[in-house]
Amino acid sequence: MNVMQASPIQPPNTYDAEPIPPEARAEIDRLLRSGDLFRYTAPEDAPVALLEREFADLLGARYALAVSSCSAALFLSLKALGLPRDAKVLIPAFTFAAVPSAIVHADCVPVLVEVGENFRIDLADFEAKFTDDIAAVMISHMRGHTSDMDAIMALADAKGVPVIEDAAHSLGTTWDGRNIGTIGAVGCFSFQSYKLVNAGEGGILISDDPEVIARAVIMSGAYEHNWKKHKGPQGQNSPELAEAFARWQNRLPLYNMRMQNLSAAVIRPQLPHVARRVRDGRRNHDLVADLLNATAWMHVPPALPKEARAPDSLQFNLIGMTDAQARAFQAAAKARGVSVSVFGLSEDNARAFWNWQFLGETPDLPRTRAMLMSACDVRLPARLTEPELRFIAEGLIGAAAEVMGAPSRAYGT
Ligand SMILES: *Cc1c(COP(=O)(O)O)cnc(C)c1O
Repeated sequence: MNVMQASPIQPPNTYDAEPIPPEARAEIDRLLRSGDLFRYTAPEDAPVALLEREFADLLGARYALAVSSCSAALFLSLKALGLPRDAKVLIPAFTFAAVPSAIVHADCVPVLVEVGENFRIDLADFEAKFTDDIAAVMISHMRGHTSDMDAIMALADAKGVPVIEDAAHSLGTTWDGRNIGTIGAVGCFSFQSYKLVNAGEGGILISDDPEVIARAVIMSGAYEHNWKKHKGPQGQNSPELAEAFARWQNRLPLYNMRMQNLSAAVIRPQLPHVARRVRDGRRNHDLVADLLNATAWMHVPPALPKEARAPDSLQFNLIGMTDAQARAFQAAAKARGVSVSVFGLSEDNARAFWNWQFLGETPDLPRTRAMLMSACDVRLPARLTEPELRFIAEGLIGAAAEVMGAPSRAYGT
């Protein structure tokens, strides 16, 4: 039986977002009527300030600072940690181009670490590259894949080097029961539309360190005494924070990377939906992963034992395919209505380190390169239904079967 005919539905559109919860409308309307869009106009409880409180509580952090993007949050984290010009920052070589870009923006130098076929940091290479001149570590939990945070934190702590977590795509993921983004000195998240919470653009950083937060708040654009509108845990005035603000007043540049109230009005009503999106995303991912893993041509690496994933996309490795076969697989899947890209084969892919030409010469990283040449990326938003998920799995399996010359039967149905 033909796989296409067996599927009762149209190819799912994996790029459409979920509708924004209707509760956002009244608040947006109120803001439009009053024109109160700037976070520092209201004396207190501006939507951005309320978002910071709610997000910090959701994650279990003492402080949060909402900004214009996760890239801005990563940049401000480096600045808040006081890294000098040309400081070296370790990052995994499998990440989005925005991550090395944030490091360059902060006048620092990224040092790329190999990533293995399970999409996680190669710990032997991490240790080898963690020389005494490394000033910070930025762990990108790329596509939500969590590297061994116990090993990473043990090494960084032993050297007294701060860890920034790029949790842009990891909201809801946990490591040993702890929220990703709360393990390092700073955690950064994105509200860009392809992430779990969608505001078009936006980002937030969390930390328990009042010194780091005070510096980030000022540099994000809390000029003059606007820092007074930033509170501590439970929305209370925090003496530690006030002391840190007093210490840094007028001593730091203002980069103006603030979030505005309309973004917070779009984000806040989505926070109660995070738990459901995480649960559904995990169910969707595991359903498709099990179907692909039952074949000989595709492998989804398992989560690490201490990791509970919150995926909204699926990554898997092609097994035993040449580059030509992998290209044919992409095309055959597309013909079946399923959009899949091999990271290293699609032109200009911003997640392939050799395309980061702004770094000058990129290092030779054979392990990461080999992974990128067989690793596939499929969007799998939490809102997909089971028939849509089966359509995607069947499309991928049918495409692989076609390319590898195996009988095209409807696997997993
Ligand atoms: C999306 C993403 C970013 C950048 O987030 P922006 O809010 O668009 O700046 C950084 N790192 C990772 C892993 C991402 O997925």
